Amino acid sequence: MPVLWLADVDKNDVPLVGGKAANLGELLRAEIPVPDGFVVDARTFREFIEKTKIGEKIYSLLQDLDVEDTEKLDKISKEIRTVIENAKIPGEIEEDIREAYRKLCEDEGEEVYVAVRSSATAEDLPDASFAGQQETYLNVRGEDEVVDKVKKCWGSLFTPRAIYYRAQKGFRHEDVSIAVVVQKMVNSEKSGVMFTSHPVTGEKKCIIEAIFGLGEAIVSGLVTPDTYIYDRIARKLVEVKIGQKDFMLTKQDGKTVKVKLDPEKANERVLSDEEIERLVTLGELIEEHYGKPQDVEWAIEKGKVYIVQSRPVTTIRTKEEAEEAEREAERGMEEGKILLKGLGASPGIATGRVKVIFSEKEIFKVQEGDILVTTMTTPDMVPAMKRAAAIVTDEGGMTCHAAIVSRELGVPAVVGTKEATKVLKDGMIVTVDGEKGIVYEGRVERKKEPKPVVASAPIITATEVKVNISIPDVAERVARETNADGVGLFRIEHMVLGLEKHPMKFIRDGEIDRYVDLLYEEMKKVAKAFYPKPVWIRTLDAPTDEFRSMEGGEDEPIEANPMLGFRGIRRDLMEEEHFRAEMRAIKKLVDEGYTNVGIMLPLVTSPSEVRRAREIAISEGLPLDKIEFGIMVETPAAAMIIEDLVKEGIDFISLGTNDLTQYTLAVDRNNENVAYLYDETHPAVMKLIERTIRICKENGVKTSICGQAGSYPHVVEKLVEIGIDSVSANPDAVQKIREVVARVERKIILDKLRKL
Ligand code: PEP
Ligand code: MG
Repeated sequence: MPVLWLADVDKNDVPLVGGKAANLGELLRAEIPVPDGFVVDARTFREFIEKTKIGEKIYSLLQDLDVEDTEKLDKISKEIRTVIENAKIPGEIEEDIREAYRKLCEDEGEEVYVAVRSSATAEDLPDASFAGQQETYLNVRGEDEVVDKVKKCWGSLFTPRAIYYRAQKGFRHEDVSIAVVVQKMVNSEKSGVMFTSHPVTGEKKCIIEAIFGLGEAIVSGLVTPDTYIYDRIARKLVEVKIGQKDFMLTKQDGKTVKVKLDPEKANERVLSDEEIERLVTLGELIEEHYGKPQDVEWAIEKGKVYIVQSRPVTTIRTKEEAEEAEREAERGMEEGKILLKGLGASPGIATGRVKVIFSEKEIFKVQEGDILVTTMTTPDMVPAMKRAAAIVTDEGGMTCHAAIVSRELGVPAVVGTKEATKVLKDGMIVTVDGEKGIVYEGRVERKKEPKPVVASAPIITATEVKVNISIPDVAERVARETNADGVGLFRIEHMVLGLEKHPMKFIRDGEIDRYVDLLYEEMKKVAKAFYPKPVWIRTLDAPTDEFRSMEGGEDEPIEANPMLGFRGIRRDLMEEEHFRAEMRAIKKLVDEGYTNVGIMLPLVTSPSEVRRAREIAISEGLPLDKIEFGIMVETPAAAMIIEDLVKEGIDFISLGTNDLTQYTLAVDRNNENVAYLYDETHPAVMKLIERTIRICKENGVKTSICGQAGSYPHVVEKLVEIGIDSVSANPDAVQKIREVVARVERKIILDKLRKL
């Protein structure tokens, strides 16, 4: 079924429907007023690619593309999008989309206007909201138009910025898919955005920006919105700033038109006190629902408030960053000539050479360390924004594109200066204060320290906080940025899927040495990036369905349920040659001195598997007295017989809660029909975890977790209390998890002291 109703999806469906749609579904469930709609899910795009057979052409165009070559990137992007738009959607898929649209129109008795938006399944990750701003088609009406725009959204998976972003992040283009949301349009009289808490300091202050007409004018920075600040503790409106809203976007005969507002209307306050109160209430409900501050898009039609979108705010400072910023701000700036004032949209101070650009075609002008000055940034300018030392714009408020992206990138920004592109000229040296919203002439330094300040020490925890890695090319950056205590899970499946053919095909073709070398080269990237910190390499966990699409993967057995099938250590031992190849690659690393690598066996269910794997490792010459050898505990069997497994001479275990949860609760982790039952904190799962940790501790075996739950603060809190030795989180969660671990450890010590 290619179409799902928004009311039927929730956060567990992200891989299928994308972040945007999952969010809307969540809101509907929490009884937040969201316009009705449906989503054409990510499977449908895949099916479209497969049935129309256009994949080969698309992915071959992307091979070896140098994404820094902006011109070439643009050309290939256009070519791919044309291929997609010209392909005919297979009949049954098209009919399902048409039928869903007809249903959406039923209540209204006429063809309704809808917004058709892409909902990317990878780009919408919270740490990448700037890349998630993909295609949106407004005022779409009629079945033919809807079908056409769905195809256009599919094409948006290959915009230059999406291609660039994936290349940067090391994602494979073949792995990503896209969902498309079709949602009834609110013909807004007023609209805007709202941060339910302050986007940088996290204070309980709701910041609302509002304009007349459709909301797109805010994000695009077309107008400077009103800004209202509501103190959620004092329960009152503490600041009202009326923006000059020279234009509004509105719908006329199905077209979005830009209407000029007369000066009186342009300076009129948009929201009444009651409307603000209503928005704050909804904002608080949404924040409560998600458990963290949100960035919300809203609209008002005929007096009714709708929530159009909500995503987590990812730019709030940590406590240490906030303290540092406060100290910095106290120091103030040296005297300097002020050239411009605007809104301090992203904190920080930077000095550099001005580069004024008026469109994405000019982004090549901006070099590393320049000050990017423009009317308003667009998503296509992101590569240049990354290179810039600071960003200054004429237009926009706290939630315009420039503000959101620069906060995300950690680049200082001043927006809404009205005349930056006039006042600032190419080549001028200026200093940008992104906290106060000021641009100074020349180099202006912070005042010298009044007295020495003790720098805040990095957090050191007794429980090690490690990181999970799947893509060797990002290891160095992740090591640098997270300063994690090692790699608690190096999943080699992505790396193997990225090789030119199936492991068994290398073997059948008599190219085992080449396979060993390829593995060794990729593994070395990770071992080296983290050296001398430990890197636990997990041996291949290859479910048959995931490996079938590789060259030579035709022989993968067809299984009714691959999750319960030929994967993990059972497969490694049946197809011993590729397991031996992995051991040989690891041996090469150890021989070179990378004794920080460890071996971790997946999906263990019996001591004989551990014994046999150990024998093979030793027979390949691996010095198991020098390197660590351990297993994943990710089946209830392993947890229930952990006392027998530890006798096999393992150094560590790592809890694979993703699988442990699916096998304990009988919930296929890939089956969206039962996703609502998937819960890593189910008492049965927790009991297995507790038992495993307890028995391992009694036997001197190290314990760790590397499943997704290791990135969840509420789970990690419990595990640290139980006494887990290390936690391995996703790169974006490491800092947060480190803070959680430190807090729990402090609490444990305090509790002990109190009892003395
Ligand atoms: C797990 O099962 O928790 C795990 C980390 O392994 P994977 O997600 O790769 O199956
Ligand atoms: Mg697993």
